[in-house]
This record gives sequence, structure tokens and C-alpha cells, in this order.
Amino acid sequence: MSAPGQAMQQPVTVLRGVGGRLAERLQKLGIRTLQDLVLHLPMRYEDRTRPVPIGSLQPNQAALVQGRVALTDLVGRGPRRLLCRISDGTGSLTLVFFRIYPGLQARLASGVRIACYGDVRPGPAGLQMAHPELRVLPEDEGAGAEDRLTPVYPTTEGVNQTTLRRLIEQAMTFVRADMIDLLPDWLAGDRWPALSVALDTLHAPPPDADTAALQDGTHAACQRLAMEELLAHQLSLRQVRHQARSAGRAPVLRCPGRLAERLLQALPFALTSAQQRVLHEIQADLVRSEPMLRLVQGDVGSGKTVVAALAALQAVECGQQAAVMAPTELLAEQHYRGFREWLEPLGLEVAWLSGKLPAAERRAMLERIASADCGVVVGTHALFQETVQFHRLGLAIIDEQHRFGVHQRLALREKGQTEGVQPHQLIMTATPIPRTLAMTAYADLDVSVIDELPPGRTPVTTVAMPDARRPEVMQSVARACADGRQAYWVCTLIEDSEQLQAQAAEETAMLLRESLPALRTGLVHGRLKSAEKESVMADFVAHRLDLLVATTVIEVGVNVPNASLMVIENPERLGLAQLHQLRGRVGRGAAASSCVLLYQAPLSEGGRARLGALRRTTDGFEIARQDLALRGPGELLGTRQTGDWQFRIADPERDADLLGMVRDGADRLLEQEPVRAEALIRRWVGQRQQYGRV
Ligand code: ADP
Ligand code: MG
Repeated sequence: MSAPGQAMQQPVTVLRGVGGRLAERLQKLGIRTLQDLVLHLPMRYEDRTRPVPIGSLQPNQAALVQGRVALTDLVGRGPRRLLCRISDGTGSLTLVFFRIYPGLQARLASGVRIACYGDVRPGPAGLQMAHPELRVLPEDEGAGAEDRLTPVYPTTEGVNQTTLRRLIEQAMTFVRADMIDLLPDWLAGDRWPALSVALDTLHAPPPDADTAALQDGTHAACQRLAMEELLAHQLSLRQVRHQARSAGRAPVLRCPGRLAERLLQALPFALTSAQQRVLHEIQADLVRSEPMLRLVQGDVGSGKTVVAALAALQAVECGQQAAVMAPTELLAEQHYRGFREWLEPLGLEVAWLSGKLPAAERRAMLERIASADCGVVVGTHALFQETVQFHRLGLAIIDEQHRFGVHQRLALREKGQTEGVQPHQLIMTATPIPRTLAMTAYADLDVSVIDELPPGRTPVTTVAMPDARRPEVMQSVARACADGRQAYWVCTLIEDSEQLQAQAAEETAMLLRESLPALRTGLVHGRLKSAEKESVMADFVAHRLDLLVATTVIEVGVNVPNASLMVIENPERLGLAQLHQLRGRVGRGAAASSCVLLYQAPLSEGGRARLGALRRTTDGFEIARQDLALRGPGELLGTRQTGDWQFRIADPERDADLLGMVRDGADRLLEQEPVRAEALIRRWVGQRQQYGRV
């Protein structure tokens, strides 16, 4: 196979009439190359293949009609209109023009044959068509009908339909020889048309085509493209996985499991069956020399941490180290406390490393990490810095990394490995992702799901209230705290500015302290020193505080079972997944919990939809599904910036039934036809990954 894609990858400027200006405008549509042009699919089609007899026109339909001009006349005072009456022997129709360009009236002289296309509407004198697209027909020409359906493309300012149609037609001719079919026969069979046929069908469908299927993407022509795109995507992730796996061997962590057994005995609860199942999956990975690359998905509160701790013990018992990394100081500190509570009674030391340690302590920690007597290290990203030398890192655990795209995951993996030895890797995420999406998004990982909450939890009741009812909400807080429970008050801002967020939280805390003087109120936000944050959190955990005012820094992982009420300000500004995460901080104990969404009226439609979804369900997977529908996969996975998730044709939900084939096909292709696999990746992913980086 010669390297395909040469012509396809040429810039749009190779086309006639495309200069810098137009090229720039096309970029707004995501169009840079000829391939981008031919993959710019119509959003709908118009039927200009059959002229409709004027006598049988219905109002409010778009139609092609053909007839002779009977009369053309300028009417009205002030702004004038041009009226043109045409007839075809079955009836007559009025064409109306409000914008009258020079020569228009002359073009529409009596007796001239014309074809026009437009929307038919009722008018003062029978049916009319305003500003139709029109063409004067020479006497010897037929009805002026097209032989294909007319595509209507998404456009942008300065690029109209006509221009796009012309450019796409040109591009199709230009790249025709280059439309090599990269889908192998054993996969495609005769299920789908060839690439060139598919593209012809999409851009210029025959009159009898199923336009509904073409528009919603279920037509075989679209499915063929979607299949190729999904496959290419899967291949690129598989390649990443393959590279990671072949980069080194992992230590075989085979041991009797005495430490894990002792922790299980000491726990005040038994693992749920979902936790047990996932733990077994992890344990089975750890006894292999192929590095584990496993993602554990589990809703907030499903108990991922203890599963991670049990996995860490397997490493320690085998004389290896386990590193636990969390994305924020706050969460890392909490893990540090939790792991110490569980592991110290077993006679194990837990080390701590964060970027904020004073130099001397840091040096001491680094020495311990490099020595044989430190089994478990907890910390932030600082753990993966170059200066950190592990004695024998056998297992890297990364908590709450749903914001990470595949490239970041890869970078982390590289940091964790030394001289051909790779640690096993366990990633934990609380963002439940619909199964179909997970299969595609995490093709470089194996996925385990903890799909069960520990028993005895009462579901959180969620209510939405306008800001005007704030006094009432404050009274609920006062009551809950008077009953010996604790509450969160979360201040959110859409801005990414920690400073503004901190400021808003400070003001809110001040007001709450004034209005509710009986409560012990604390404040945490991202601008506090970690020691301060830690002491406030410690106070809240120990119930020396009743009310915690916080920014979204408490979003992930924070665990205070006695907290049973959460107020979220401006919830309408946040995405569903984030709201669900926040709400997950309550409902962790036995007391009935509630969450108040204190919104600013009036709500936008999107805001209303999100808050409604949140009130209806506490099931993270259901919420993820809704989030997917409301925002699309890129937003949901939080990797929009990395370009991981910008499908142009495929839609993982719609095309869910292709995904099985995509997975199997990808494996076989990589094994048997690597050149073809490369070409597919280049065609669909290669280019875009570069864009993602700029
Ligand atoms: P997440 O999955 O959100 O990280 P955590 O690991 O923080 O959840 O667990 C939430 C709480 O549930 C913790 O207090 C933890 O000790 C407790 N927990 C975990 N597993 C169980 C279980 N099987 N039964 C009862 N409580 C559990
Ligand atoms: Mg957690």
C-alpha cells in the first residue's frame, strides 16, 4: 500500500479561488485540508430533483417549481417590492423580492422560462415564494431539475452554501484517486459502501436516498465513516497501550496476601461484592509480569480507597513500594491520614510527599522513599517528579484522574518507570462514564466498575431553590447543626480564578458568621496555605467546626460522614458531573442527607435541565448519561482541550453497536496489518492530535 492521504492532507488553498481570507474563514468550520472539506457533511438535503406542478403546491413546503413569467411588477411606495407571477399550466405562483438588484426585473421579463427553489407560503394573492434561488432556463433545456439531492452544509460567516458546495465538489474531484479504502474486507464485508461511494452519497445523494438516515447518521454511508473514525481512534489508543506495555516488565506481585487479610479483619465493615470483584480483578493483574493498566470507576462513596489500600498491601508484602497520588493537596492529605489509620496498626510506615514540604523535610522524605523501609508513599503530583527515586516502585495508584487525557496518562507512566521495569498502574475515577463511552475513551486501559454503594446509606434528597430563599436555607443549616450534624456551604464561580473564588468564599463565610453566630464556621479555599487548609479540614473532620464554607476544592474525595447537609451556590453554572461530585460529600453517614441547590433566577434552559437531572437521580451513571446527552463526550471526560474526544462523524452513543466490532477489529489489525493501522491513524487522528497541541 502506498502512503495514502497525500492529496487528502493538502491545504484548502490548493483549490481554485481559495486565498488566505477564505482559508481563514474555513478554519472556523474546522476545515484546513481537502480531507476536512470532504468530511464536512451536510446537515440536511433539499430536493430539487422533481419540479412540483404549481397547482399541487402546499403552503410551508420547500419546492422546485418551473414555469413561465406572466407578469413582473414593482409595487409599493417607499421600500419597493418586485412581484413576479409565474405559471406552468397547472396554476400560478407569486415570487416576491424585497432586495432588488439591478437587472433583476429585466431577467424576469414576461415569457421567460425559469426554475426556482424556495419555501412556499400563503400570500395575499394565493401562494408565494420569497427570494427563491432562481435560474433562467434556455428554451432548449429541460425542467431545470437536478439529478441529485442538494446538500445544505453548516456554514459560517463569510462562507455561504454556494461557496461550500463549490469547494466540496472541487475537493471531491481533487482527492478522488486518494480515497483509498482502509477498512479491511474482513471487517467491512459488504456491510458498507466503499469510501468514495459513501462520500458521493453523503454530498450528492440520489433522489430516492433515505435522507432521514443520512441526516441522523444511521445511513450505511455515514456508518462507514463513523466505523473508520472509531477504529482509527481505538487504534491510536491501543498503540499507546501497546507502547506502555512493551516499555518494560512489571514485578510479579505474588504473595499469600497476609497483610491484606489483616486489614480486612481490622476494618469495621465487610467489602461489598462489587469491591470484592474489582479487588480480584486487580489481584489477578498484579501477579502478571505485564504491567497492569487498570481504571477503577466507582461512584462517589463507593469505596475505592480501601480497594486501593488492599492492592497497595499486595505490593508491600512482595517487598515492593506502592505510591498513591491524588490531584490536590487536600485529597492527598486525606489519603495520607486514611492510609496511616489503616496501615500503621499493621506495623507499616506511610511516607508523605507534597510539593509544599520544606526543603529539609523533603530531602529526608526523598531518602526514605529511596530506601528499603518505606512501603507506601502518599502524595501529590510531586511524586512523579524527576528527583523522586523510588527504591522499588511496584504499583502506582492515581486517584481521581478523570480530568486526564490519554497523553497525560502516558506521561505519568513514563515517569514511573525505571530501566525497563514498569510499575503496575491503577487509576481511580469517580466520574462514572457510560459503558459505551468508557470502552472507547479508555481503550488504553482495562476498566473495572464498582457499581454498588456500601449498605446503610440513605440517598441524598436534593432541592433547588432560588437565591431569594437564602434566609430559609440558612435556618436549615442552623437546625441541622443544632441537631449535632455538620454542613457544607459551597461557593462556586465560573471563573477559573482561584483568587475570585477565594474572595467569594471569604465574603460568604463572613456573612454566615454574622447571621449564624451560634455556629462554629470554618473556611477553606485554594489560596490558603496547605497547613491552614489542613488544620481547618482537621477541625471539620473532628467536629470542632459545624459549618464549612468552601470553594470547589472540596469537590473530590473529601470524606466527613457526619456532614449531612450541603448548600451549593450558583449550581446552574456548573456541569452535572461536577455537581454530582460535590453532592457526593454528603450522604456518607447513616443520617438522612440533603443538598440545596441555591440558584440565581431566572434559570437558562440548560441550567434548568441540569438541576432537574440532579434532583431526579443520585445514580452517577444515570447522571453521566444525561451529561453526555447535554454536553457531549468531550466535556464529560474533561479532555476537550487535549483533542482526545473530537469525533467529527462518529457519535459513541449513536454508534454504540459498532464498538464491539471496533475493539475486535483494532486488535486484529494491529496484529496482522500494522501498515493499514498506521494509515488509518494518520487519516483520522494524526492530523488532529497535532491541532490539539497548538
Ligand atoms: P470513594 O469511592 O468516593 O473514594 P471512599 O473510598 O472515600 O469512597 O469511601 C467512602 C466511605 O465509605 C469511607 O468512609 C469508607 O471507609 C467507607 N466504606 C468503604 N467501603 C465500605 C464498605 N464496604 N462498607 C461500609 N463502608 C465502606
Ligand atoms: Mg475517593
